[in-house]
Amino acid sequence: MTTENKPLQKILIINAEMQTNHLFNQIVQTMGFEALVSESLENARQHFSVNIPSLVIINENIASLNNFNWIVSIRKKYPLLPIILYTNIEKHQVLKQALRLGINDYLSAPLTKEDIQNSIQANLSHSQSLRNYVLLESRRATQQLQARVNDLETLTELARLVTSSLDVDIVLRTIVEAAVELTGAEEGSLLLIDEKTGELYMRAARNFNEDFVSTFRMPVNDSIIGSVVQNGKVVIFDDNTPQKIKTAYLVHSLIYIPLKFRDQIIGVLGVDNRHKRLVFSQKDVSLLTTMAEYAVIALENSSIFSEMVTERTKLETIINQIEDGVLVLDNDFRILIINKIAQTVLRVSGENLVGSPIQMYPIDSEFLEIIKKFENYLGKSTEINADDERVFSAHLSKITNIGYAVTLHDITYLKKLDRIKSDFVSTVSHDLRSPLTAILGYVDLVERAGPLQDLQKSFLDRIQFSVHNITTLVDDLLNLGRIEAGFDTRKEHVDLSIFIHQAIDELNPKFLQSRIKLKTNVPDTSKQIYASPIQMRQLLTNLLTNAVKYSEAETAISVTLQEKDDQLILQIADQGFGIPAVDLPYIFDKFYRSGNIIGTEIPGSGLGLAIVKSIVENHQGRIWVDSTMGQGSTFTIVFPISE
Ligand code: ADP
Repeated sequence: MTTENKPLQKILIINAEMQTNHLFNQIVQTMGFEALVSESLENARQHFSVNIPSLVIINENIASLNNFNWIVSIRKKYPLLPIILYTNIEKHQVLKQALRLGINDYLSAPLTKEDIQNSIQANLSHSQSLRNYVLLESRRATQQLQARVNDLETLTELARLVTSSLDVDIVLRTIVEAAVELTGAEEGSLLLIDEKTGELYMRAARNFNEDFVSTFRMPVNDSIIGSVVQNGKVVIFDDNTPQKIKTAYLVHSLIYIPLKFRDQIIGVLGVDNRHKRLVFSQKDVSLLTTMAEYAVIALENSSIFSEMVTERTKLETIINQIEDGVLVLDNDFRILIINKIAQTVLRVSGENLVGSPIQMYPIDSEFLEIIKKFENYLGKSTEINADDERVFSAHLSKITNIGYAVTLHDITYLKKLDRIKSDFVSTVSHDLRSPLTAILGYVDLVERAGPLQDLQKSFLDRIQFSVHNITTLVDDLLNLGRIEAGFDTRKEHVDLSIFIHQAIDELNPKFLQSRIKLKTNVPDTSKQIYASPIQMRQLLTNLLTNAVKYSEAETAISVTLQEKDDQLILQIADQGFGIPAVDLPYIFDKFYRSGNIIGTEIPGSGLGLAIVKSIVENHQGRIWVDSTMGQGSTFTIVFPISE
């Protein structure tokens, strides 16, 4: 026996009489307990703060102080602690009151050893059995809680599976298995309505014969399951249920939960017992209801997923079959979509194209340049030459939150047409140039052949003026033809500021003649651009000549060149006639002359700005004009700085 180590049970005696205390003390000790003696409540309280005694004996004189308040508070705090009241004189009323307040027993004078022992013994053992009972009850409650926790864990696990798995078969099977486990049923099944036949079939099952599962078919209007589908109400049923219900097979108990999908019943989740006489509870119903909801979510997810797959396949087929090339890149230029045509034109081939950076393919160097400076090219079209000599116009656009899109349109036929037209124009222009030179030559000779009357002289001047105009036109046509045909396109890294200074020098006689005040804000050297020198000269000459042509004498023209980000910005501003707003959209069109020349004799072909525009496009630049009638026009051209 190892009783030595076990602390002795403590009996607290609250009594002020020494003699009685002595007696209590002796008896308590002989019973094998430790006696703690307090002569006042104050002292007793201190004992409680150190150790709770197993039993309390309290003198009525002390207990009745404050109307038994102390007993009331101890009873509240320690409901199982036995309290014995000791009275010197039995007072019926006082005892009644004390008993109601919760004392367990009383002792009265004359005290006998036997009486005291019996009372202590009986009350301790009663208190012990109460403690045992409470312990048992709390264990039972804990077990129930544990079972509930297990149920919840299984449900959480299922929820995780529903959200993480796209394999609806696995999810449904796991749900049915969990339904059987958690309800303790013998078998379980998930039945769905076949949309074509309207019959119920088993989509997932546990503990059913496989043949039975695969061949099971049942009309909805038949039996108990049918009623669940039709009413959308849960059915819980066992041998004790008074109503008679027809099932597909004989069972002792069952639960059927309707599967509701957007207000429609699409099937039933059920568990049953064919042999066990187990009765299901409402708890089982709520567990199954949650699982039925999970099953519906899994079915919904799977239908959304397969819809998505179908839609994606449809989209892929469409994108692959259209005649244009399509390329979609994310913000880091990784391929998101690329169709067959785009693959051929851009020389992108291989496995797993989606997700790989477009730069890793041997794409056209110009296209690579575009990719690097995509933002500069957005909203614009550029030409790309495919290996099979076809020419594609690539249109670049930004797609918010996704990245960039490139569409490639085959413009080979347009290019051919354009070439035929340009060939025609340059041949005709060329052929026209010689007779015109001859006419001018003979006009000169007429004057030298003999004296002319004034009228004849003025007619000759007109002939000269007109032939001059035709020559300008023919020159412009030839220039445009050359640019469009791709001649003079040899490009090099050039300093634009140098060309500007040269052009100004060359046109100086014109500025002087019109007494134009020229203001320049052009640095001596600028960052380089990749450009054709011939075309740069042409561009500057055309714009500066126009500025003089369409301005009154003694006005100012300013030329500025600035660098911003990775672009050069050239501005040529005059204080001339200005361009009517209605003409602004067309002034870069071939042969278009604006209304501001009406009534003037300013010569021109309407081709100068068309040439300028072709040149700017040829250099991946942009051009626009701001103009106010009577105040002047400002032409702005932006070129990308070369690396
Ligand atoms: P043109 O040979 O007639 O000068 P352009 O193509 O150079 O042909 O210009 C087209 C038209 O745009 C001109 O006829 C003129 O009406 C207008 N224009 C061009 N530059 C200016 C300018 N600086 N100020 C006013 N009008 C201009």
